[in-house]
Amino acid sequence: MEREEARERIEELSAELNYHNYLYYVLDAPEISDEQYDAMLVELGRLEEQFPEWRRPDSPTQRVGAAPSEAFAVVEHQVPMLSLDKSFDEDELIEFDRRLKRFLSLDESEPLPYVCELKIDGLAVSLRYENGTLVQGATRGDGRRGEDITANLRTVRSIPLRLQGDAPAVIEARGEVYLPVPEFERINSERAAADEPLFANPRNCAAGSVRQLDPNITASRRLDIFCYGTGQLQGASFETHTEELELLRSLGCRINPHVAAVASIEEARDYCHDWTFRRGELDYAVDGVVVKVDNVALQQQAGSTSHGPRWATAYKFPAVEVETVVRDIEVTVARTGQLTPVAIMEPVFVDGSTVSRAILHNEDEVRRKDIRIGDHVVIRKAGDVIPEVLRPLPEKRTGDEKQFAMPSDCPVCGTALERIEGEIAIRCPNLNCPARRLSLLTHWGGRQAMDIDGLGDVVAMQLLDRCLVKRPEDLYKLPVEQVAALDRMAEKSAQNLIDAIEASRQRGLERLLFALGILHVGRTAAARLTEHFASLREIADASQEELEQVPDIGPKIAESIVGYFSRPENLDLPERLEALGISTRREERAEAAGTLFAGKAFVFTGTLEQMTRSEAEEMVKNLGGRATSSVSGSTDYVVAGPGAGSKLEKARELGLEVLTESEFLEMVHDEAQAH
Ligand code: NAD
Repeated sequence: MEREEARERIEELSAELNYHNYLYYVLDAPEISDEQYDAMLVELGRLEEQFPEWRRPDSPTQRVGAAPSEAFAVVEHQVPMLSLDKSFDEDELIEFDRRLKRFLSLDESEPLPYVCELKIDGLAVSLRYENGTLVQGATRGDGRRGEDITANLRTVRSIPLRLQGDAPAVIEARGEVYLPVPEFERINSERAAADEPLFANPRNCAAGSVRQLDPNITASRRLDIFCYGTGQLQGASFETHTEELELLRSLGCRINPHVAAVASIEEARDYCHDWTFRRGELDYAVDGVVVKVDNVALQQQAGSTSHGPRWATAYKFPAVEVETVVRDIEVTVARTGQLTPVAIMEPVFVDGSTVSRAILHNEDEVRRKDIRIGDHVVIRKAGDVIPEVLRPLPEKRTGDEKQFAMPSDCPVCGTALERIEGEIAIRCPNLNCPARRLSLLTHWGGRQAMDIDGLGDVVAMQLLDRCLVKRPEDLYKLPVEQVAALDRMAEKSAQNLIDAIEASRQRGLERLLFALGILHVGRTAAARLTEHFASLREIADASQEELEQVPDIGPKIAESIVGYFSRPENLDLPERLEALGISTRREERAEAAGTLFAGKAFVFTGTLEQMTRSEAEEMVKNLGGRATSSVSGSTDYVVAGPGAGSKLEKARELGLEVLTESEFLEMVHDEAQAH
């Protein structure tokens, strides 16, 4: 790959991964499967190795999780909570052992003892006990700073509020909070009945549950925990990880029963192999095995990178494949009018949830894979609920299977379908197609759009059927009595829906743009447009060429936007929305773009872990600031890493603003986004 091409791909992958990190860690609502995410991360890692000059200090390969949400108080982790490097197959596991032995200058032929643990698919928490009493519970956050969720964690019954026996003066127990699968299914079936959005998988449900503002909601979800290590510790010690787990167990912390100490990496590989086939026995989701060096002195000698410890690896299970039968292939109509074939299958339980539908993407894919109605098929699923039909089993055909053909008319409104030139997609061109209206309405209320809780399929369908709503904007004129008259709607839930609609008026331009459901305008395009234009009116007035000036907006998106705003019913859309009290203007940032760094003097002191001093100074310069070497009254910011001495003291004396390296990087990131 050419150098320039690599730079572009690195940027593209970083932006994509950052976006998915945000959905996953902050909103607990991923859009892609973990496999797709991991594949992008592996590609980025390889490119960065090949072209180290393009590796950004804040690259997703160098970071853990996401910064804590502002909804909670921040907890600084005394000992960082890191992620784990992965091994995707058995060869990589063996390679991990070789690499580690080389790093530790150990004889490669001598077996190294490890501890194998199931990798629980939940979320990492830290429980701080002082003199045996639980004083703080926190999420991992970005590894250095997490969220204070003490009140929520107190509601998890298997977390001891007081440790048993002779507790050390300070001990931070670290573990994975998870949701047992039966509990996940109970919650989702209740949500389905209440027409609320479903959780994608037990992990997201667990993450959403512990990060609630109301601990009663957390308490209503029966979360559990397995502890697997310690953070800060005073008043106790151990020489092996096995002893560390024993200590936790003796204090009353819950330890997974399947932990195994093994004598070599080959035995660890056998454990991984064994559990690949046995994971279905468990009533909680596991996505792999964590293999850790048992000896603590060796762990310390190996140390960590900014991403994870060198002495451990997470062996990821391959995706589960199961067989089922395709009963039918239905066609769904999206808000953009795009038709998608969906396989309706005999329900099968696979890797944590029951699956009965799988998207087949388009007619060409159905043909290429030769999937027929009535076929036995192999489906694959990894952790989350986005299953994929891999292949049919032609040897099981009876001759009664039917070929699938895309209809020529819309299955919902009967309008003749169109194939857009140069695309595989087929669309229903009828803007009034009930299926398009329905998905447009639910999209408008979606979490990442206007976020209207309670506007699910069932409610939206009734609103459309009864002609109470024709377009999303009609939601803002709904009287509460009409909502209360809908099926399965009590007065209280009607009022809740009206309140949620009311609150959605102020979601801002970026979400509004996404909510409009303009063809090709996803979250990224909406964000870019909002950075560039100050109001919906400006976007509506922009020409194709002006739109194409915006980064990430290509001719296809620009054309779609121009087409959208030139439709007769959309000519005065910005004004109509404004009249309904919906904010159509960009909120001006408190600090105007460009003022964070412009003319500001920065001093770096102590060790920087994610970049070199000169890289940091270069960043400041590029953003219009100055990097100086001594602290004085005219210094604006001091960025202090570990080992900072007299300069930091002086900065404190002078009352200057002191930043950690991560805070500095966040500032750089914000500034870069503002441009
Ligand atoms: P990870 O979850 O793969 O591994 C690290 C974590 O494993 C630790 O923080 C800890 O919480 C957990 N763990 C479970 N059992 C453990 C044990 N016995 N010992 C030690 N740790 C144990 O890494 P990550 O950085 O938390 O997240 C990356 C994962 O999240 C990947 O699987 C990735 O696919 C997924 N992800 C998906 C998306 C998406 O959009 N689908 C986005 C971001 C991340």
